[in-house]
Order: sequence, then structure tokens, then C-alpha cells
Amino acid sequence: MAIQWFPGHMTAARRDAAETMERIDVVIEVLDARIPAAGSNPLINEIRLYRQRPCLKILNKSDLADPAVTKTWLNFFNAKKNAPQGDNVKAVALSCKKPGDAAKIPALCLTLAPYRGTSLKPLRMMIMGIPNVGKSTLINALLKRRVALVGDEPAITKNQKSFDLNDHMILIDTPGLMWPKIEHDSDGMILAASHAIGRNAVIDEEVAVYLADILLARYPKLLTARYDFATTGMDGADVIAAIAKQRGYRIKGNKVDLEKAALMLLQDYRNGALGRISLETPDSRQEMLDVATASTVEEGDQHI
Ligand code: GDP
Repeated sequence: MAIQWFPGHMTAARRDAAETMERIDVVIEVLDARIPAAGSNPLINEIRLYRQRPCLKILNKSDLADPAVTKTWLNFFNAKKNAPQGDNVKAVALSCKKPGDAAKIPALCLTLAPYRGTSLKPLRMMIMGIPNVGKSTLINALLKRRVALVGDEPAITKNQKSFDLNDHMILIDTPGLMWPKIEHDSDGMILAASHAIGRNAVIDEEVAVYLADILLARYPKLLTARYDFATTGMDGADVIAAIAKQRGYRIKGNKVDLEKAALMLLQDYRNGALGRISLETPDSRQEMLDVATASTVEEGDQHI
């Protein structure tokens, strides 16, 4: 299933971001720590590299991610060889919901643009990222007041906004930015599972089965702990059916309500009720890219 998701306001958001990039010093790219590669918008990188701006990658929601996997992502992003962007990328893991975590960000940004940060030359930071990664939560935490709408639905902020953090630092909030075509279907699935794209873009049940397959492979014990059934021999669809059965979700005709069970699994993953989970690792990402490249080469061979 090819996932297309580019509502009109995102075209405007992309244009505005490209214009603003010229006038800022550091990009704060907010990522969901559970999907830091699939959830990294290639457009943001493209716009940023065009203006050669440094980037602080925030692996946010790290309270929900598998801590061991988050560590491997930090090593990956902070290793110079993995940063085609050069030296001026730094990655940190935090949780914007934890008091004090967000407060570390301005000082980290300053290390990426040490020539700024005075009242004459204020440090201008632009917060970017796909929908639902915590950009508004971060803005509110930094400003210590509620200026941005927070919600567990994608694309709430629609326009750029500028805020004075103090007399030598400026924050610019931007709307969640997606890109026109998600190249890998697996990325579309985990973006939907993490609620970066909305319900109208993909079908919950299909996404939940995909999620269940990843959970079976990596976190079967968490499934058992949450829903109280053994997962041996199951596939993703079996997990959804077992949740429906276990919870007694029924529709007319006494059939199991798979849709309700699918939504339950998605919700339990999204809000952390299942435990700390990461849907991709640097290795799994590389494997997926290798398979995608091999199949593209194979397709090319067939055309000869
Ligand atoms: P935005 O669309 O990027 O502005 O995302 P929001 O700031 O609106 O946050 C989306 C959802 O994620 C909200 O339900 C937030 O409460 C939640 N959220 C944001 N940051 C964190 C975090 O660090 N940990 C957890 N557990 N939830 C977070």
C-alpha cells in the first residue's frame, strides 16, 4: 500500500520553513525517539543543508522508547561518519514532559552556533519536525507557559510563530511538516502507528497488524504482560484477534471486534501502556534499506 499524505497547508508550511531558514541559526529537529529514522523528514534536511544550518536532533518521548535502542541511535547520529550533514549535528534524547529536560536545549543549541547568543546577535532557533512528535510540548516547556496547542492528533499547529525566550534567544515554532511521498511502505506504517499521520491516511487495523508483527519479533514479553496470552506461533493478525477475545470485544452476530482491538493496541503503544518500545534500530533501518535497494535493482534487471 503506497501512503500519500500531503495536505495543502503543508505546501505552505514547507515554503515558509525554507524562507525562515535563511534567518535562523540552529534547527531543533524534534523526533520521536521510537522512530527516529522513519520520522525524520527528508525535506527538513534538504532545506537545512541548502542554507548550511546546524541541527540539534531531539530524540523526544524517550520515556516511551526502549532505552538500549535509544542509546544506539544516539551513537549512530553522533558518529561523524553517519552524518552526511558534517560536524554540525548533535543528537540528544529527552522527554519534553519531564521538568528540566527541555531547559537543556538552549545551551546545546548555543554550542552549535557559538557566535550568537547576545542581545545584539540573539540565537535564533527554529523548531521543526513531523506532526505529533512533541514540538508544542517543547515550546511550552521552554517558555514555561502554554503558548502552543498540545494534542495527540497530527497537525495542530498551522502557522509559524516567534517567541522571545529571553533577551538573547528567539524560538520559532513551525507546523508539523510531512513530505509528499513516503518512499517505504514500512515507514508509512510505523509513522501511522506512532500517530504522525492521521486516521484518514491509513487503516487502523492494517497498521495495528504491522505493529503487532514488530512487537512479536522484538517485545513478545510486553504483549504477554499487557494482554495475558502466550504469543508463541502467532502472527500480527492473531495478536489482534487474541486481544479482542481476551478483552471480550464483540460486534453484532457475536463476532470479535477486530477494529476495537486494533485501536486498543495502537493506543497502548502510543501512550506507553505496553512498556518502553522502539520500532526501529540503526541495524533494522539498514536492513530495510538494503532490502529496498536490492528489490529496486531486481526490478531494474527485469526491464533490461
Ligand atoms: P506536536 O504536534 O509535534 O506539536 O506534538 P505535541 O506537543 O502536540 O505532542 C503530541 C503528543 O505527544 C501529546 O499528547 C503530548 O502530550 C505527547 N508528548 C509530547 N512530548 C512527550 C514526551 O516527551 N513524552 C511523552 N510520553 N509524551 C509526550
